[in-house]
Formats: sequence, structure tokens, C-alpha cells
Amino acid sequence: MRLFDTHAHFTDNSDVDGLLARASEAGVVRVLAVGGSRELNRNALRTPCAVALGWDRDQTGVGDAGFAELERLVTDNAARVAAIGEIGLDFHYSPESAAAQKELFARELAFADRLELPVVIHTREADAATLEVIDSVPWSHSSRLRGVIHSYTGGPGFAKELLDRGFMISFSGIVTFRTADLVRESARFVPEDRILVETDTPFLAPVPLRGHQCEPAYVVHTAKCIAAERKTDFASFAELTFGNSERLFGGA
Ligand SMILES: [Zn+2]
Repeated sequence: MRLFDTHAHFTDNSDVDGLLARASEAGVVRVLAVGGSRELNRNALRTPCAVALGWDRDQTGVGDAGFAELERLVTDNAARVAAIGEIGLDFHYSPESAAAQKELFARELAFADRLELPVVIHTREADAATLEVIDSVPWSHSSRLRGVIHSYTGGPGFAKELLDRGFMISFSGIVTFRTADLVRESARFVPEDRILVETDTPFLAPVPLRGHQCEPAYVVHTAKCIAAERKTDFASFAELTFGNSERLFGGA
């Protein structure tokens, strides 16, 4: 059994070695370390993992200098950079910056397309705007697999729109929460070649560890929950998502 945690954040205080050792003991042999701010980008690069680097929706002020910095980081670490992210839209927490978020998101999608890298997208209460921005990008790079919508919380209808546009769908510990029936419905709906699992460490620890600080090892609980929902066995579901993750983000 092997699992790939496709979304974990590391901070200045993260015990990287301890987190990765416990992950490995649990069978979580690969982790994508995800950036989004200067601190998160720097700490993703502090790990031995493949990384996603980018400017998240709360970084709308980065401007041209921020994009020059990002391109430098990506070029200097080309062998480890598996994606641009996380990027996206959140109109739940920050509706007042919607226009600026859309502008940054569009620019990063075009940036990722130019560098032929997949994207890691966050979207919350912004379904229509997310599709609108995705559809505004020319998508000139050859692969039709464009990236992943991480910690998916929507229903099957929005998932279908995203799948049609060449995205994978990743589920976090939210899928295990008692009230998350709609998310579980989506976890049953996504086809087997497009589904991923993640923790979104240090947030969103799954049941039965809810309330603890999340870490990559805990993705086991999320994968077990989804395997049960899909009426498949845990080991083959783990292997399936591992293969999808490597198809999107590259081999070790
Ligand atoms: Zn995240």
C-alpha cells in the first residue's frame, strides 16, 4: 500500500523530518509541498518533496516583481517544481477582493500554461468565476491534464464542469466530516482516473483525528473513507490515486 498526499503546507515551525517520517511509516511515501505565499514557498522548498509554488488569492499585491520572483524560483528549482499553486478564488472569506483575485488567478494560469506546468487550484463560493477565469486562458500547452481542484467541497455538477476542462479533483479530510454528504456524493462521482487525495496539512484533520493539527500521515483516513464510499478496497484505491498523482505531478 502506498499513498501520495497531494497537498501539504509547511511553515517556519514545521518539523519536516518528523512529519515525513510518520507519513512514511503510515505508507504515505510521497507528499506535494504546496506554497502560496513567500513563507509557504520558502518552506515547501525546505522539504525534500516535489513542490508547487505560487501566489495564493490573499497575495493580490505581488505585481510584476512577484511574477519575476516566482519565475526565478521555478527556474532555480526546476527539477522539483511539479506545479504552480496554490492559486485560485475565495469569495467566502474575501468577497471584497474578488476582482483582484480573478486578475491574479488569470495571470497565474497563463503563467503556468507558458511554463507547461499543471496548477493547484483553491475555489470556495466562486464556482462561476472559477470557470469563467479558466475559460479565459488560451491553454496552449500540449497536455490536456491542466491541474487539480484541491480540497474539493462542491457537488457533482461543478465537478463535471471541472472534469470536462481537464482537471483532476482532490479530496481532503472534509470528506470524512459528518455533515459533508454532498462532498461524499462528489467523491463517488469522480471517475477513477481523475481522483486524488490530500490532507491540506496543517488544516482539516480527518475523522477520527478531527481537532488535531493535521499532518500527511492522516491522509490514510481520508483515503479509507472514500474507498468505502466507492465500495472498493482500500489498497487498490490507494494505488489508483498514487498513479493519478504521479501522472499529474511526475514520478519521484
Ligand atoms: Zn492549501
